[in-house]
Amino acid sequence: MKVLKFGGTSVANAKNIALVKNIVANSKATKNIVVVSALGGVTDLLLNTATLASAQDNTYKNSLKEIEERHLNTIKELIPVLQQSKVLSKVKSELNTLETLLEGAYLIGEITPKLSDKIVSYGELLSSYIISEYFIAEKLNCSYKDSREVIKTNSNFGKAIVDFKVTNTNCKEFFTAVPEQIIVMAGFIASSISGDSTTLGRGGSDYTAAIIASAIDAELLEIWTDVSGMYTANPRIVKQAMPIPHISYEEAMELSHFGAKVLYPPTIQPVLAKGISIVIKNTFDAENEGTLITKNKNEQGKTVRGISHVEHIALLSLEGPGMVGIPGISKRFFEVLSQANISVVLITQASSEHSICVGVSDTDALKAVEIVNEAFEYEISLGKIKPVIAEQDLAIIALVGDNMKRHQGLSGKMFSTLGKNNVNIRAIAQGASERNISAVIVKDDVKKALNTLHEEFFEDNTKQLNLFVMGVGNVGTKFLNQIQQQRKFLKENLKLNIRVIGISNSRTMVFDEDGISLKSWDEKLKGGEKADKQKFFENIQKLNYRNSIFVDNTASAAVSETYASYLKNSISVVTCNKIACSSEYNNYKHLKDLARQYNAPFLFETNVGAGLPIIDTLKNLIASGDKILKIQAVLSGSLNFLFNNFNDQSTFHDIVKQAQEQGYTEPDPKIDLSGIDVMRKILILARESGNKIDIEEIANKPFLPEESLATTNNEDFFASLIKHEAGFQKMYKEANDTGSKLKYVAQYENGKASVGLQHIPKGHDFYNLEGSDNIVLFYTERYPNQPMIIKGAGAGADVTASGIFADIIRIGNF
Ligand code: ADP
Ligand code: ASP
Ligand code: MG
Repeated sequence: MKVLKFGGTSVANAKNIALVKNIVANSKATKNIVVVSALGGVTDLLLNTATLASAQDNTYKNSLKEIEERHLNTIKELIPVLQQSKVLSKVKSELNTLETLLEGAYLIGEITPKLSDKIVSYGELLSSYIISEYFIAEKLNCSYKDSREVIKTNSNFGKAIVDFKVTNTNCKEFFTAVPEQIIVMAGFIASSISGDSTTLGRGGSDYTAAIIASAIDAELLEIWTDVSGMYTANPRIVKQAMPIPHISYEEAMELSHFGAKVLYPPTIQPVLAKGISIVIKNTFDAENEGTLITKNKNEQGKTVRGISHVEHIALLSLEGPGMVGIPGISKRFFEVLSQANISVVLITQASSEHSICVGVSDTDALKAVEIVNEAFEYEISLGKIKPVIAEQDLAIIALVGDNMKRHQGLSGKMFSTLGKNNVNIRAIAQGASERNISAVIVKDDVKKALNTLHEEFFEDNTKQLNLFVMGVGNVGTKFLNQIQQQRKFLKENLKLNIRVIGISNSRTMVFDEDGISLKSWDEKLKGGEKADKQKFFENIQKLNYRNSIFVDNTASAAVSETYASYLKNSISVVTCNKIACSSEYNNYKHLKDLARQYNAPFLFETNVGAGLPIIDTLKNLIASGDKILKIQAVLSGSLNFLFNNFNDQSTFHDIVKQAQEQGYTEPDPKIDLSGIDVMRKILILARESGNKIDIEEIANKPFLPEESLATTNNEDFFASLIKHEAGFQKMYKEANDTGSKLKYVAQYENGKASVGLQHIPKGHDFYNLEGSDNIVLFYTERYPNQPMIIKGAGAGADVTASGIFADIIRIGNF
């Protein structure tokens, strides 16, 4: 004998019910008890209808109509026309009774728990009857049995307690005698000794099936649902969650108690006592193995088997100096709660006995506060105990596994993982069985916490990086292309899974939680909503993903002003925009401090030398104990290009024009030629070397005549270059006469920085610097005479994009 239970989605409509029929027809057991839920969503509909009616809201009639239509349509689709009329008339007559009950609630303007159970029972009554008639029409050897005739409970309406003695006897007698191979029954509903309809609690059809399985010593209990088993975490919230092939009763019970809705928690109890195995299977993927639940212990399997969570939790803390050493306080505390029928989901008590903290359902919170404060009124009036308050909108997340007790460091790993992602933990409980470690967190952090923990404990160390990219000009576009090309490699080799979730340019922005396709991002962006920096940030904050990275590929000051809000929310910032790091020292320092405080890397490697690893090398030198003595560098690709090409055969004006046309300079070439850009770069290197320095302190002896510097547009600027050609030729000649080349050099030594043109003699490291390359010499205590040299292409969209990419990977390995 076997019990098969089909949940709401499995019987939601005619198409699904046909799948159910195939599964039942294929069963090899000699007798199959088929327990069904109400058509998916009907229980909620019934409850809503009842609430509307009792609130004397006429619209309850519309809901009732919807309920009627769903059932009548299902019959019409499932049952051949010739056999329909009997089923239709029976169902219509039941629906009439339901209507009368609802009218009653409407007239009285009230609904008792007893009436509510009566009304809600129609969901399962109708579904089970229709399904049995369909099976019969399909020529299965089938009969129908009203569950209320066998399953008996007390009168605790809404969540009645089963009378196992009577129920077991009823079941044995009935199922031994019944001749048919298949018996269809309603889940969830039962009846009291006095004959009233009762229910076993929301999700209770699983329990009905387990009660019957245990009573008749079934060989197996199959729970057929809409997912392929019990997953490592709720698959709706954690996309990477996977079915657990085999799990122990205790583990399954723990997971379901802590929110794995796929199994109603009391379900395990009756079958555990008899050692009957449970399989959870998917009606829509019947071949899938699903999850097997048995008493076999998980000997060598994973330590953490699953992560679950319960929402709508409130924390109550009883604390005060008067609690220490006084026996009986906790007893009174729990007694009060229990007398009010408030169930305690989690308990923590510090060993100082200074406080006891309990988690209860949000809906019980206010009542709990009231009764506890009343019970301790005397102690509160003496100031020995503080009045209890409830902290609401919390959730519990729990790691579950039989083997957790044999492994050290799991809770450490759990909490540090959450901490790194800025998930604030309000309370912690670890059962003595060590099968469960639970933490209370803010409800809004649940998705992030579950995904972070899942990644840490189940995903083969693959780390998910969630990118939000602002700016898709030259650099941004190249960057997105590079990610697309490298994604597979990174996943396989570095175990990094990169997803771009948001993209914005100055006009529009788009978000896609599943990751924006990098093949067609530009199309999507064009159709996106209006760009708004603040909204972009708020969206990211709301999504609240772990390992979120904001990537700034713009040159906008306004964008750089948003970094602090990202960092404060533990969102890392990667930028090629130099403005923030070269702004006032206090601002730079503030951002660096925020990054440390909120565990969110702030990386800007491309601020100096594009893709060259200059800042990273500098950081590593310092971190490993070296000291920077001097930095000498050519940091402007544009200026290097100019002075490499300018000679007595050309004019300075033409070379600048050419550089501008070929994209080697900023659109306004004065930004490069005035030395401002190089000043910013050496400033950043000086700061990263540990110096408090501001841009005004950098010496800059400009080589441009004052008149050129004073121009306010490109036309005047170029005209002034023509006018001063003689001066430029003189500059060239002076260098050339001594066999030197002109290079625009940035220097930093003894806390002082300067930039300017220099004559570089043959043999100097800078002499042969080609095209638009950059070079940096680090003179340090370890490299005092022969500097450490970093040299290579220091400008261009491709190398800048790859520098940003490298920063992202640094965060991935963080
Ligand atoms: P049924 O109507 O078949 O009883 P339920 O909705 O009660 O189905 O339970 C199945 C749902 O449980 C899944 O669709 C899934 O969203 C949810 N769920 C929550 N946690 C888990 C988990 N750890 N494993 C599988 N499903 C889970
Ligand atoms: N139909 C009931 C509910 O929705 C029982 C169940 O489906 O298990 O809660
Ligand atoms: Mg269920």
